[in-house]
Amino acid sequence: MRRYPDVTQGPLRSRLPDRVQIVEVGPRDGLQAEERTLPTETKLAFIERLLDAGHTVIEATSFVSPKAVPQLADAEEVVRRLPRRDGVRYPVLVPNERGLERAISAGASEVAVFASASESYSRKNLHRSRDEAIEGYRGVIRTAKDARLRVRGYLSMVIADPWDGPTPVATAVEAGRRLLEMGADELSLGDTIGVGTPADVQRLVGAYRDAGVPADRIGVHFHDTYGQGLANVLAALELGVATVDASTGGIGGSPFAKQAAGNLATEDLVWLLDGFGIITGVDVRKLAAISSWLASELGHEMPGRAARALAGEASVRRRVAGGSPQ
Ligand code: MG
Repeated sequence: MRRYPDVTQGPLRSRLPDRVQIVEVGPRDGLQAEERTLPTETKLAFIERLLDAGHTVIEATSFVSPKAVPQLADAEEVVRRLPRRDGVRYPVLVPNERGLERAISAGASEVAVFASASESYSRKNLHRSRDEAIEGYRGVIRTAKDARLRVRGYLSMVIADPWDGPTPVATAVEAGRRLLEMGADELSLGDTIGVGTPADVQRLVGAYRDAGVPADRIGVHFHDTYGQGLANVLAALELGVATVDASTGGIGGSPFAKQAAGNLATEDLVWLLDGFGIITGVDVRKLAAISSWLASELGHEMPGRAARALAGEASVRRRVAGGSPQ
């Protein structure tokens, strides 16, 4: 239901990519923040639905200690039972060599490591200084590359840290470049507490570009705390970024950054991109249905907007079709 003129042409559209790769992080980044632990069958059903909606990159689970994240204690089983499809990738989070070994023996073909651009978050979340944590991934990335795994590097707190305040742009760039130089194929820049605005995003992505990092090695990972998530995506796309992380329904706050809202909702992102005619391969109405299903599985409403709006649209159509007097 589109009531506005065609905006698939125009000055802003001409600066945006024709295709965006969405990295659906709901099954890992999303679920790990949830109180209700979903059965393995439900997680696999979630992933099946995501595939059916057209997703091709789905962060499936995490090999952190089951004690730290009980929700994802079934990582081995989830990876072993993932539906293998051509052209579909399932990155899994690994915190260290031990996690990497578990991931490899379960059959993972892509892993993600998780560092912080800021000092305090690294100490509180990873229990190591920023530099120690980053340096600690050198061996993990080398082992993963030797095993022919693709490696995604997450860098969190790229805009600001809840304890340290703003992250200097030069610090964020230096930290990310180290992960790339160690062999990470792609870097996902995380505004983990969602305080960034498009101005911050363009400053940061522009600084990466100036440092010689091509935009196709960068993804963006936004949280919607101040309602800037979609605007921040546009700001990044305008500078050539074409990989965007998002989670079904917008689930996924961080237990270590409590003031952060959830991730940007995938269905909200696809609604935006569809409006520009940007290809994602993902069907927004199917995403909305998955979001509603997930809400019932998790026992709470989803923070995202598009699923609720689309559900409302359907109920209006049902009422009209039912012949209510106008
Ligand atoms: Mg996140």
